[in-house]
Amino acid sequence: MSSPLVSRLVERHSRELALACDASAVITWRDDRALRVLGVRLGQRLTELACPGAEEKLGIFCERAAREPLEGWELCVLAGDRPVTLVCASAPEPDGTGFAVLASVLPEDLVAVSGSTSGALREVDALNRELARQGRELLRVNHELSESNRGIVQLHDELAQRAEEAATSAEVKSRLVANVSHEFRTPIHSILGLSQLLLDETDGPLSEEQRTQVRFVRSAAEELALLVNDMLDLARLESGIASVRASKFAIADLFETLRGMLRPLVPEGDRVQLSIDAPRDEVLLETDRGKVAQILRNLITNGLKYTERGDVRVAVAASSNEVRVSVIDTGMGIAPADLPRVFEEFYRAPAALHLRGTGLGLPLSRKLAELLGGAIEVESELGKGSRFTLVIPRVHPEVRTVEEIRERGRQRDPSRQPVLVVEDDRKTIFVYERYLSLAGYQVIPARSIADARALLAEVNPAAIVLDIMLEGETSWEFLSEVKSSPATRDIPVLVVTVMNREQKARALGADEFWLKPLDQDRLLRRLEQIPKRAGQAKVLVIDDDERARYVVRRLLDGTSFQLIEAATGHDGVRLAHDQQPQVIILDFLLEETPSAGRMTAFDVIDALKSDPRTRPIPVVILSSHALGDAERQRLAQTTESILSKENLSRELAIQRIRDALHKAGIHPVSNPGHGG
Ligand code: ADP
Repeated sequence: MSSPLVSRLVERHSRELALACDASAVITWRDDRALRVLGVRLGQRLTELACPGAEEKLGIFCERAAREPLEGWELCVLAGDRPVTLVCASAPEPDGTGFAVLASVLPEDLVAVSGSTSGALREVDALNRELARQGRELLRVNHELSESNRGIVQLHDELAQRAEEAATSAEVKSRLVANVSHEFRTPIHSILGLSQLLLDETDGPLSEEQRTQVRFVRSAAEELALLVNDMLDLARLESGIASVRASKFAIADLFETLRGMLRPLVPEGDRVQLSIDAPRDEVLLETDRGKVAQILRNLITNGLKYTERGDVRVAVAASSNEVRVSVIDTGMGIAPADLPRVFEEFYRAPAALHLRGTGLGLPLSRKLAELLGGAIEVESELGKGSRFTLVIPRVHPEVRTVEEIRERGRQRDPSRQPVLVVEDDRKTIFVYERYLSLAGYQVIPARSIADARALLAEVNPAAIVLDIMLEGETSWEFLSEVKSSPATRDIPVLVVTVMNREQKARALGADEFWLKPLDQDRLLRRLEQIPKRAGQAKVLVIDDDERARYVVRRLLDGTSFQLIEAATGHDGVRLAHDQQPQVIILDFLLEETPSAGRMTAFDVIDALKSDPRTRPIPVVILSSHALGDAERQRLAQTTESILSKENLSRELAIQRIRDALHKAGIHPVSNPGHGG
């Protein structure tokens, strides 16, 4: 609704008007509305406005109004030539010089004085029309909103369906690749094996002609085997099922294997020399050795293939993070126009077409390099030679992150609830870590069942997220173990897997069953339902100031620290003995109370340190008192850290408590039932 329209309407059609008269009823002042509605002029007598027949009443009103306050007088006056009824109230000037009138026009008369439909009605009409228009607009917007809402719901459904399809199609692809590779490889291997048998003449001699024919069969089968292997490897990489199996190895060992493997490919005579020399200093890698070997084999094979005469050399350059392995040949080289295309699938430079090849070696190598977190660089000059360089991180990025996660997992964080994640895929562990840690949980990763069993003996997790298909094993037995042991049966087990075996999982006691890919929110919602367990890190606060204890309580809200409070030094020492907290926060200035007797922070510390049960408990001093050097020194010997009450932030408090626990080598999130 436009506010100018409203104010115009109010201004125009308010029923109130005011005027002032002198003692003889001559109008000396009137407001705008009196002018507009009644058309009164200054100097005009009020009595002149009277309707025919109402003159007397108006005369009496004017006379009395000069003397006394009047109220509720209905007076009929003329507005132009139309009679209008005013309901009037008046007040005399105190010095008797006149009176003021406040009048209200009867509503039915308002239309008349505003000029019938051409005035107020038109505006009221306009207002009504405006309101109707806005009503319609509102309906339309409402409709639109509900439509887009429906759209969003549908989109959501579609996305969910797509996600499901994607999961299934990834599964189908991986099954296809696995099956097809079997279907392809078996007959090829039969042909290779049988032709070799024939060539070996195990079942009788071959004629020279037959030998030639069988050799052709064999070499055709070898070519086919190469092509099928490359194609299947590529399909594997593209379907995302290729996994990285990292191990630690020295590059010198890998080179030794490569030398043995590639020797047969070096042409006889000294037409081409192959040198694969290990670097002088040992270069250790932690990545997928098989894949590094596959890439280098491809590059060296190409070097040998495309070098008619000269040499092929392998050189290594390593920095602390990265290793560069170059395969340098003095062969035919690649024309600048072909260079950008050599990584395309099936692309072969025209100059290379007379040689055997599939055009898949380089694209495959590049994908493998990417899987290892690296790349392949190429430089080449036609007729001079080429240099292909594999650049990869020395430690595979996923190894590093999983290592970090494991490291963090080893350092139990008492402010977070641990969640045991049994999962062999590094990427998935990484994903869990990312969103579970954001939600305040600590991921304890286990990559095998043996790992999981060992960790479960140490940690009492809030939940177990369990993958069923692990590398070379399934976790059904582990699930049933967890659910049948009294010590662990209450831990919720959330099964997340690619196999649709919900019935079996539930029968063995799974609390949830979800198919991959996992909906993160669903997991978080489920974790939130799990009640926070007691038996987490206990923190004892000894402070006589109730407000200070309240502040600490609030600071630790929402963490899994369990807070115990003591208002006096004596209570604190007793509670520390009975409850065995993992850390004590101690106020420096403890008030003297009649029952407690005098006990300073030093007394409390002395008492704690003299009792073997409380001696190892780390103490954090919380003080609003500016400590002197001597006090600081004395405290530094017996306490973990000193915090000032003024700048105590939540992060700092939690951090200090964690530090204190860490320094004391305490793993507070341990399960007494498991003796951890
Ligand atoms: P293939 O060697 O089976 O043809 P690749 O994908 O390994 O397939 O290589 C693609 C093309 O790149 C080759 O056909 C060739 O033209 C070119 N190429 C690769 N390596 C070299 C090299 N060392 N020297 C010259 N050309 C090369």
